[in-house]
Amino acid sequence: MTDAYIPADLPEKIQHYIDGELLDSLDGDTFEVLNPVTNETYVHAAAGKKADIERAVAAATKAFNEGPWPRMLPRERSRVLNRIADLVESRDKRLAELESFDSGLPITQALGQARRAAENFRFFADLIVAQADDAYKVPGRQMNYVNRKPIGVAGLITPWNTPFMLESWKLAPALATGNTVVLKPAEFTPLSASLWAGIFEEAGLPRGVFNLVNGLGEDAGDALVKHPDVPLISFTGESSTGQLIFGNSAPFLKGLSMELGGKSPAIVFADADLDTAIDACVFGVFSLNGERCTAGSRILVQRDVYDEFVERFGEITKRVKVGLPHDPTTEVGALVHPEHYEKVMSYVELGKSEGRLIAGGGRPEGFPTGNYVSPTAFADVSPDARIFQEEIFGPVVAITPFDTDEEALELANNTKYGLAAYVWTNDLKRAHNFAQSVQAGMVWLNSNNVRDLRTPFGGVKASGLGHEGGYRSIDFYTDQQSVHITLGDPHNPAFGKQDLD
Ligand code: NAD
Repeated sequence: MTDAYIPADLPEKIQHYIDGELLDSLDGDTFEVLNPVTNETYVHAAAGKKADIERAVAAATKAFNEGPWPRMLPRERSRVLNRIADLVESRDKRLAELESFDSGLPITQALGQARRAAENFRFFADLIVAQADDAYKVPGRQMNYVNRKPIGVAGLITPWNTPFMLESWKLAPALATGNTVVLKPAEFTPLSASLWAGIFEEAGLPRGVFNLVNGLGEDAGDALVKHPDVPLISFTGESSTGQLIFGNSAPFLKGLSMELGGKSPAIVFADADLDTAIDACVFGVFSLNGERCTAGSRILVQRDVYDEFVERFGEITKRVKVGLPHDPTTEVGALVHPEHYEKVMSYVELGKSEGRLIAGGGRPEGFPTGNYVSPTAFADVSPDARIFQEEIFGPVVAITPFDTDEEALELANNTKYGLAAYVWTNDLKRAHNFAQSVQAGMVWLNSNNVRDLRTPFGGVKASGLGHEGGYRSIDFYTDQQSVHITLGDPHNPAFGKQDLD
């Protein structure tokens, strides 16, 4: 089955957007962008280099130093953000269509992500207005208050899984707080990012506030990280890239936020509601094609229900509908890129020697082209196995039994990652105790990947640095200057006047 589906009105080329203009790279270089269903090149995108980043940073710096955006009242910026949210909402189907085409995500799931992107803008539009100024009366007619200021040019570097939504997650708070930005989207999926420029222009975002440079990580991304006039880097991507960026930005002492990889455990206790737990575990690892940072890619099951769980999990996995990304009945689409497909397939082959294959294990029938991998499950996987330890970032899961709560915890914490954990049990105390001890930035107790936008998002260990979400994002994107003033008679200390009491 080959996908003849190509969305209407695709751009002829994908360009940078700098200081309100669509531009090619200064050296004219481009890279190929592939359709994940055929792996044919469908468009060329401008391949930005250091010189393009310099141009974008110069525009963003000028807009920050001279333009209206950082000087506007929060409620004025909030109005623009709300218009952005309206525009994203009104284009959600088109966004989903392009995102699904470019990334291989099932269209229904891409639509959910587009709507979440609109919510992100609406949320930060509200939050920036609701933000209470910190002011403290100090005895003796003194006062201390906190002056929050935008920091400057924020460098935003994003990955290819749910790209539009993840870009919105950084753009909304960076802009709400009055910064200007340079976005470097992922090179596998530049299509949806190319829609931001039109949305922002229509919403009335001043020129130069938003700039976008496409390109490879080692060129455009690296130049952004090393640019001395970019004081903040917000990065989402692989842990190894995060380490590199951490080192490269160290000489500049930049503000860093890092949302990195994961190998999150789903722990199923024998007292759990098994029907719900199995369905949720299948969805938790295979939705978004398994290309989800918080995927529950290690499932730990208490021995009393292990055999039943494994059998039923395997059966349901075999019924997951693999299909063309734009088909609304598709549950798992095509992986993003042939390089990533090769990586995931190498883990599928490895898994055959590291575990017992219970579903999938290769290419699904009927998909001779493109990056298709059957949802794949391995049981009886030892904690030393590479498929237990390493992030695969595809539709592949390792299932392992445990006996006691202590053993479950030890297994759950037995990776370098610490992004999320899912716990399935009907014992309230056990659930909360587990949450206290598990090394994970987010814990879902009988729940699946839901997060109120006010709460923090972030990982521990190799899964991240810092937290975003709600006021934590406002903190990250602002300087908080403490201002003290004496309102009464001056009684400031002076040499010769100190009171020895
Ligand atoms: P990646 O690290 O390869 O690339 C991410 C971005 O970094 C891309 O834009 C890339 O061009 C850029 N980049 C690469 N090398 C760079 C360098 N030397 N300097 C500056 N920028 C550079 O990650 P990916 O493959 O695009 O995304 C998948 C990874 O992202 C997975 O590990 C996944 O878990 C993680 N992720 C994490 C979260 C989270 O919130 N924790 C969310 C989504 C994805």
